[in-house]
Amino acid sequence: ALTAGIVGLPNVGKSTLFNAITKAGAEAANYPFCTIDPNVGIVEVPDERLNKLTELVDPKKTVPTAFEFTDIAGIVEGASKGEGLGNKFLSHIREVDAICQVVRCFADDNITHVTGKVDPISDIEVINLELILADMESIEKRIARAAKLKKQRDKDAIAEEPVLLKLREAFEDGKLARSIDFTDDELRIAKGLNLLTLKPMLYVANVSEDEIADADNNEYVQKVREFAAGDKADVIVICAKIEEEMAELDDEEKEMFLEELGITESGLDQLVKASYSLLGLATYFTAGVQEVRAWTFKKGMKAPQCAGVIHSDFERGFIRAETVAYDELVEAGSMAAAKEAGKVRQEGKEYIVKDGDVMLFRFNV
Ligand code: GDP
Repeated sequence: ALTAGIVGLPNVGKSTLFNAITKAGAEAANYPFCTIDPNVGIVEVPDERLNKLTELVDPKKTVPTAFEFTDIAGIVEGASKGEGLGNKFLSHIREVDAICQVVRCFADDNITHVTGKVDPISDIEVINLELILADMESIEKRIARAAKLKKQRDKDAIAEEPVLLKLREAFEDGKLARSIDFTDDELRIAKGLNLLTLKPMLYVANVSEDEIADADNNEYVQKVREFAAGDKADVIVICAKIEEEMAELDDEEKEMFLEELGITESGLDQLVKASYSLLGLATYFTAGVQEVRAWTFKKGMKAPQCAGVIHSDFERGFIRAETVAYDELVEAGSMAAAKEAGKVRQEGKEYIVKDGDVMLFRFNV
């Protein structure tokens, strides 16, 4: 499964946020294929459509799909040189598919800021620089290697070299690989290098309790938004402390709490949704009387691969899928009515599954 790593300087609210994630935690028994690791938190992906399908089908059980976050211990200035947890830390980032960078946007005199004052842009720059330096190091090695292999007329090395040089130039300018305009071929090569700064990134602005309702007027948040715009990154605003408190509440209490605070969606829900879209993920549903369930797939995946998300046997023995779009099913009012209206399609191996498809897989065992 794809995972997003939570990073940030010390004392910005990472642990508080990660606590909220694990407390809100999805029921592990439903997700036997998820990672069991104290540094991994599994959360349910909020999806209104699942409630609607549950009303429609009235199943014994409803199971949302889940998403994993990895807590990556504090990065400090000099990490790329081995400071703090240094290289270990960077290798953990290498293993995640997206980065959620928590940025301190709350002023609190009681909580020390590592660099002495609250300055989100400078914090972001410290972290991004460490990522750039780590990438620079791997690029330099590759450049030396490519130069050697080129002499032997190695085709891959010849194709790789201009991309490496382009990357080096960007890194020297303090730019992230993500912000470079690559051609499709260049991007394919760059992706093969497993660079930290090519991973999609989300900035998580952590504001104080009393500013969450009016976060757009928070000058720190404004600065982060400006910065992110130039960085092809998204921003969400949360109050980690509130999320931690809210993680213990049931749905009804949560809704009342949010209303009191004057916000419509919890920070955690926003975080899950943003990470989901950052990774190009989408959801399909299965809707049987035993179980109505949401499943995560990557946009562009074909029907057999999507069946494989449930079980590898489903992919191996895939015959076809019966599918109906969520909207059309809801409009019809029931599966039988949707069939009668000709909305249920038979799809084969080449079918590219769409977000919201309700699927029934036929397969050989
Ligand atoms: P980490 O080092 O990044 O993991 O930071 P922590 O999560 O341990 O938070 C550092 C301190 O900031 C703790 O005392 C938290 O209670 C506090 N803190 C975290 N988030 C918030 C917040 O949204 N508002 C306020 N006022 N304090 C927070």
